[in-house]
Amino acid sequence: MVKPIKIVVVYQSLLGIYGDRGNGMVLAKRLSWRGIASELIMVEPGQPVPTNGAVYLLGGGEDQAQIAAVDALRADGGLFRALDDGAVLFSVCAGYQILGNSFTVGDDDTVIEGLGLLDVDTRRGPVRAVGEVLSHWMTPEGDDYLLTGFENHGGYTTLGPKAAPFARVELGVGNRGDGTDGAVQGRVMGIYPHGPLLPRNPLLADYLLGVALDRRLEPLPNEQVNDELATLRHQRINVVRHTKSLSEDTRWLGERS
Ligand code: GLN
Repeated sequence: MVKPIKIVVVYQSLLGIYGDRGNGMVLAKRLSWRGIASELIMVEPGQPVPTNGAVYLLGGGEDQAQIAAVDALRADGGLFRALDDGAVLFSVCAGYQILGNSFTVGDDDTVIEGLGLLDVDTRRGPVRAVGEVLSHWMTPEGDDYLLTGFENHGGYTTLGPKAAPFARVELGVGNRGDGTDGAVQGRVMGIYPHGPLLPRNPLLADYLLGVALDRRLEPLPNEQVNDELATLRHQRINVVRHTKSLSEDTRWLGERS
């Protein structure tokens, strides 16, 4: 019997306040639509992180939960072993920050050592980044694919030389208002937007599955699902761009009055 592909959603009780578990659900769903068996595993602190997963997911959360997640993941060690065996790790916001070298928490900006899986460092930024994000992700085929999501983070992230930006921001703050969002280093990836991100941006979901399975997945044959998603995505992109131009008009009026 073919073994199911394991999708592991890590520590929702700590890093689950933004509904990022939807990223795991959509990965499993898109495998099942292709007739590929999968298993969606939710693992919580105190339970061993399985070492034989194909994709691991971390979501967003609050500062103190980030410290607890780092401690539990370091003590468990399973995630590190899975990555050594070639697993893919996709993380969002708080989950992204804790993979770095360091991040800060609390009003006194205490520096916490991260898991060291991404060459990034996060420090509190001048203003909290809150709102819609629109960014451009380059597919392996060289196509420009728009990612839509929303961000809500106080930490601003700077990339070191070993990490490459994941996407180019058109609207929003992303890493730190420098026109980039997220980071990729081998099979470890992180980015700021929630949404959840993968249901909103299905090509990215298929890309992650392709990396995990070491093959490019054929597009889904389900025309209705594809069309509905495409329509929703275009509506969302138009709304975000329109809102952005409205807010620019308002700022301009404010400056002139
Ligand atoms: N606590 C982190 C910050 O504010 C991450 C927040 C989040 O996951 N949305 O930067």
